Amino acid sequence: MTTPHTPAPAPAAAPTSDDLAALRRRYHAERERRVRPDGAAQYRATDAEFGYYAADPYAGETAEREPLRDTVDVAVVGGGFGGILAGARLRQQGVRRVRIVEQGGDFGGTWYWNRYPGIHCDIESHVYLPLLDETGYVPEWKYSPGEEIRQHAVRVARQFDLYADALFSTSVTSLSWAEETESWLVTTDRGDAFRATYVVTSTGTLSQPKLPGIPGIETFRGHTFHTSRWDYAYTGGTPEGGLTGLEGKRVGIVGTGATGIQVIPKVAEDAGHVYVFQRTPSTVDVRANRRTAPDDVGAGRDGWARDRRENYLRIVSGEPAEEDLVADRWTESAGLLEKLLPSFRRPADRVAFEAAYEVADAVKMDELRTRVERSVTDPETAERLKPWYRYGCKRPAFSDAYYPAFNRPNVTLVDTADTHGIERVTEDGVVVGDTAYPLDCLIFATGFSVGTSGILSGKLPVHGRDGTPLLASWGRQGPHTLHGFTSNGFPNLIMMGSLQNASSVNFTHILDEQAVHAAALVAAAEAKGAIVEPSRESEREWLAVMSDGAPDHEWFHAECTPGYYNAEGRGRPNAPRAFPHGAVAFHALLERWRAESLDVILQARSEPTD
Ligand code: NDP
Repeated sequence: MTTPHTPAPAPAAAPTSDDLAALRRRYHAERERRVRPDGAAQYRATDAEFGYYAADPYAGETAEREPLRDTVDVAVVGGGFGGILAGARLRQQGVRRVRIVEQGGDFGGTWYWNRYPGIHCDIESHVYLPLLDETGYVPEWKYSPGEEIRQHAVRVARQFDLYADALFSTSVTSLSWAEETESWLVTTDRGDAFRATYVVTSTGTLSQPKLPGIPGIETFRGHTFHTSRWDYAYTGGTPEGGLTGLEGKRVGIVGTGATGIQVIPKVAEDAGHVYVFQRTPSTVDVRANRRTAPDDVGAGRDGWARDRRENYLRIVSGEPAEEDLVADRWTESAGLLEKLLPSFRRPADRVAFEAAYEVADAVKMDELRTRVERSVTDPETAERLKPWYRYGCKRPAFSDAYYPAFNRPNVTLVDTADTHGIERVTEDGVVVGDTAYPLDCLIFATGFSVGTSGILSGKLPVHGRDGTPLLASWGRQGPHTLHGFTSNGFPNLIMMGSLQNASSVNFTHILDEQAVHAAALVAAAEAKGAIVEPSRESEREWLAVMSDGAPDHEWFHAECTPGYYNAEGRGRPNAPRAFPHGAVAFHALLERWRAESLDVILQARSEPTD
């Protein structure tokens, strides 16, 4: 069954110009009371001071092993979906020795670390889970629980024989190009120093948890952890619930983003009392999770999953589509996400476009605020849960359990917007305004340093030709790459992630297209006995392509409530960061380039000396 796609919700009752002016004033005032002078510097890393970050609660005892000194064809840094997909696509190209190095005790990446109660993916499973056509797996639910997704990662890794050479509980500490062997030396924190002809990096965008730099945070004497390191030894239970360890306990939860809204209803089922410390309310739309029979999604037909995710990508990228196969609130509201997307489709009459856009946005946000009123019985709590900003200022969230949780007698919403978040943490609990909240347990659902990969943060040093560090080679002008994957001076290094390419809310799809590309580069270099390295000229050309029609994000994000989308309220620079024509066009461009121009990136190897 399919639903025709309409790009933006049709206004039910169009707001008047006075309504819109009042909304603009309200949004501005709400933004102003949230912007902090310290911006992104308000956060701190979850370092060893907090103990729980260093430990891997799922790995058990790390078995001793001898450090490796051997040589593989490809080293893949990171065993999340990016690394697994790279491995799978390399196998399809016939590459034999692929070694994935992963910090966690198994494959899965973000789905390995995040196992908090209530964890689900809010992107439809039939488009989110990669390689469904290849594995024959059909998810049972429209939105899969986290464990099903983690197990799918394991399924793919098994099917493509990625366990044989993998290293778990191991972090890569450096990558250095050795001219004499024309290979990379890969060192790890387990003493390995092995060689790889190629390196593919996929170190994740949600891999570095962050904590708020609340004064006194380290003094809390109760139990505390970050949602990405859920402590079931303390809470009892499983991601499905049954958190018997929280019975009778006073539990504080900081953060009401996509994670917080999944966790809070589950914790509320078992805790003595839950205090939800909210700074900015999320937009929480209908999720309507349900079981799906294979026939509902067309499973069984050749390429059904590929077609479905292509259709989804078109819609969430603002491309025309004849039908909407997924038909959920992401696709229904996709027209309103256009502000996060490039401006390539913006019509010539920009004023009329912006006006229509503002009306559609106001209607949607009104619908979401009305949803709060209808779901939450206490009017004061409902008022505080209403989001006052334009759709897409924050990552949209979806839940049917979140608002009803506030009707329970054991759940209290504490609004911290006026004090820029929690003011102080003490030995006994949390202080907001004049009120102290004594707590037994304080849980941080405060997210991640989004987009900060090991390479971009410098945590993973990379040295290319002549020992030049990658970040130094990029210098003040910032990264220079071809298509975001490869950089001059760093032969046979292929970077996956969100650098200078095109992205989408369905990030596993993006990663799969990147994996196909990475594997094709390796296969072509192997076939020709060549090295993968772009010229400076091709990098300059790519930068020019990215600048041509680059999105005008600045004004939109400058008016948005603070968050990681807009550098905590500072706005987003208009510097070219991504391919301006969106993910659908980017994938087509890559496919064309592979068919017609791939040879330009292949350089001759040095003559072997004997
Ligand atoms: P977010 O960064 O989205 O949310 C962090 C939360 O912590 C915000 O509510 C933030 O408030 C709050 N916070 C931070 N500092 C303070 C403070 N000092 N006092 C009070 N509150 C504070 O993290 P999430 O883990 O929720 O989500 C991160 C990303 O992970 C998502 O954007 C999404 O991409 C992904 N995700 C995807 C899911 C899926 O189903 N596909 C599920 C879960 C996560 P404020 O908004 O005011 O800054």
